[in-house]
Amino acid sequence: MQGNMMDVQLTVPTILERIRTQYAGREVVSLLVAGRDEQGNPVPHKHRTTYGQVADRARRLAGGLLGLGLAKGDRVATLAVNSFRHLEAYLGVPSAGLVLHTVNIRLHPEQIGWILNHAEDRVLLIENVFAAMIPAIKAACPTLEHILILGPTPQPIPLPGVHDYDTFVAGSEPLARYPELDERDAAAMCYTSGTTGNPKGVVYTHRSTVLHSLASAPKDALNVGEADTVLPIVPMFHVNAWGLPYTCAMYGAKQVYAGVFADGRSVASLLQDEGVTITAGVPTIWMGLLAELDRAAQDGQPYRLGGLERLIVGGSAAPEAMIRAFQTRHNLALLQAWGMTETHPLGTASGVPHGVDASSDEGFALRAKQGRTVPMIELDLLDDQGARLPHDGKTMGRLIIRGPWVASSYFKGEGQSNFFELDGQQWFDTGDIATLDERGYMHIQDRAKDLIKSGGEWIGSVDLENAIMAHPAVAMCAVIAMDDPKWDERPLAVVTTKPGQSVTHDELIDFIAPRFAKWWLPDATIVTDQLPIGATGKILKRELRDQYRSYGST
Ligand code: ADP
Repeated sequence: MQGNMMDVQLTVPTILERIRTQYAGREVVSLLVAGRDEQGNPVPHKHRTTYGQVADRARRLAGGLLGLGLAKGDRVATLAVNSFRHLEAYLGVPSAGLVLHTVNIRLHPEQIGWILNHAEDRVLLIENVFAAMIPAIKAACPTLEHILILGPTPQPIPLPGVHDYDTFVAGSEPLARYPELDERDAAAMCYTSGTTGNPKGVVYTHRSTVLHSLASAPKDALNVGEADTVLPIVPMFHVNAWGLPYTCAMYGAKQVYAGVFADGRSVASLLQDEGVTITAGVPTIWMGLLAELDRAAQDGQPYRLGGLERLIVGGSAAPEAMIRAFQTRHNLALLQAWGMTETHPLGTASGVPHGVDASSDEGFALRAKQGRTVPMIELDLLDDQGARLPHDGKTMGRLIIRGPWVASSYFKGEGQSNFFELDGQQWFDTGDIATLDERGYMHIQDRAKDLIKSGGEWIGSVDLENAIMAHPAVAMCAVIAMDDPKWDERPLAVVTTKPGQSVTHDELIDFIAPRFAKWWLPDATIVTDQLPIGATGKILKRELRDQYRSYGST
């Protein structure tokens, strides 16, 4: 027997309609670039608008894009920072039946061109600060017919098909009626960062976007509601800013966008001045904020962040020492979350179980893991032969995932080997090596390609890095494999130190030795000025490996 409930489609226009009809007065605040100071640094200008205005402009954008002759499923790319204009595109583009393709602004121009061509984007929304790239982009990307510039430019760019976004939006009629949409239609797409081979496109559906927003908001996930003010520092080109623009709009939370101002001082001031309750970013952002909060406290002028309930950290592992430092020195709670482009991204969140004190040793240790799944997401572990492994908190295996907002293939059918069937069910191989324990806590040990294989055994770099980063002199750390004639590979620590500090290999090993088996301990330590950071704020281990692979044999 079938049930009798309505088959209402889960689509992005339902989110747009909510902000238009229920949250029209709720604010959206953006830091825009007003100009440059004498050193050439950007000077911020705070822009305020409301969901009502965002909804109106999003519907005008949708109407205008369809007026250009775009048809259902056509791709509209953005090369943009976090701001209200980008939010308008998030809501307006999918509501027109088009596909929002957010491109990472930190990629090399050649890679940007490759991605625009691969996605066959027809329109590009580009931030005014990148306007100088327009002639090169037009020349490299023949499918691009129109370019809309976000924000004022000193002078118009006299090229056919290049428009000022604000003028375009103001001059367009709002979409009279949303097109008929199937919830399985494409709503948005993102490319993986392509650390191995060419980037691959992940295409989100309307359904996955809506379900991901519904599942992200509850208390044990990101805890977003109408009373909240949310500052996603994570860029809107990085897995849809972890879905936060949609989640916040769905539930009516005020949104604050930092634009290009992600340094510790700008972030701390925004958090304080806008009364932010939830913020989200990668560990390097929170390292910068921690240094600024420490500095201000030492100067006797601490920031007033009493309303800040939650700093969400993800993208790479959050060291326990950092989680402790925020909690004990500033009474601020970090919540670790894990996910990837292929998972929209939210897969797990690391709250503590009922009955455990979040600030006890056990609580901190659990919070340093990646956490338990959000509802509808399943995880499992496989060995290299594809057999299931025990969930005992010790056995490491390849982490596999399934769920309604997990990709079932890549755009144009590439990378098919990552998707497979197990016992009649679809799964995706994350490429992460992890453990799962009896309570369901997942703990990332490494990415498969970064594992150190010593004497036929695996050494995971993530725990070693986190332990080393707890040393008071260390700022950042990467543990990588170097070649070894006897063991094949051995761990090598590459660290940067805090200003005015120094550290030796022996000091570091003495510091971490109690926590690890002897054969896990790095054979050598290199202290360097800087670690290479990639386009999504993660350390580029492949570059370090290329540089230091033969360090042990020199
Ligand atoms: P890429 O790193 O290739 O740019 P993503 O941005 O999609 O791709 O990142 C996904 C990967 O980031 C995950 O597979 C995992 O290795 C890592 N990651 C994300 N969140 C965490 C976390 N909280 N702890 C450890 N690793 C994480």
